[in-house]
Amino acid sequence: MTRISQNLQAVQIAIAQAALAASRHPDSIRLLAVSKTFGPAAVLEAVRAGQMAFGENYLQEALDKMAVVSAALQQGQNQLPLPEWHFIGPIQSNKTRLIAEHFDWVHTVEREKIAHRLSEQRPHHLAPLNICLQVNISGENSKSGAAPEDVGVLVQAVAGLPRLRLRGLMAIPEPASDFDSQRHSLRRLRQLFEDLNAQGCALDTLSMGMSADMAAAIAEGATIVRVGSAIFGQRNYEA
Ligand SMILES: *Cc1c(COP(=O)(O)O)cnc(C)c1O
Repeated sequence: MTRISQNLQAVQIAIAQAALAASRHPDSIRLLAVSKTFGPAAVLEAVRAGQMAFGENYLQEALDKMAVVSAALQQGQNQLPLPEWHFIGPIQSNKTRLIAEHFDWVHTVEREKIAHRLSEQRPHHLAPLNICLQVNISGENSKSGAAPEDVGVLVQAVAGLPRLRLRGLMAIPEPASDFDSQRHSLRRLRQLFEDLNAQGCALDTLSMGMSADMAAAIAEGATIVRVGSAIFGQRNYEA
């Protein structure tokens, strides 16, 4: 077994344990493998170990990697299906077309203007683009994400766009080292999600939890956990 496949197995076991501790079914949580800064070989190794969804933050890096991964999988005799790609980085408005053309999901929509562009630019031969709205649950300490009080209006706007499928909410909380304070900040996203659904929104996705706070996120209802270093190892940004 390779190191990446061992790590994937360990993360899947940790997800199952956290789910059981929260009286949830392990299948209600999807693992998004965050492959930023790791090359196509690492992604292919994870695909061969059964991992089918990958998260990327940097557009050009992602496009280069996708091309190599798709070519390798289509060449192979073993007919592995192509993985699903999720964009989880900050979005510049001049990059929306390439995101709309190449990704299956976008987790980091925080403005109506970006949502409009993604909907207009989503190619018609592809299924609607799955969207999570990024919410700033940590106050002024983090600049990314819509303010919680603005999310209701954003939900209404995005839900009406024809080429998008609004799935849910995403957050990156301030780092906290202990389980209880991790849960405390993640609970704010869950509460917002439940409030919106009580008002009639049909959201099915809570994208929260990374390598360091995955168990707390699952305890608070995460349906997608975004895990990088626990699968691929430490990132080296200089490389
Ligand atoms: C890098 C990143 C992750 C994964 O972080 P790890 O700590 O390596 O698990 C998850 N979500 C987002 C938005 C990221 O940028």
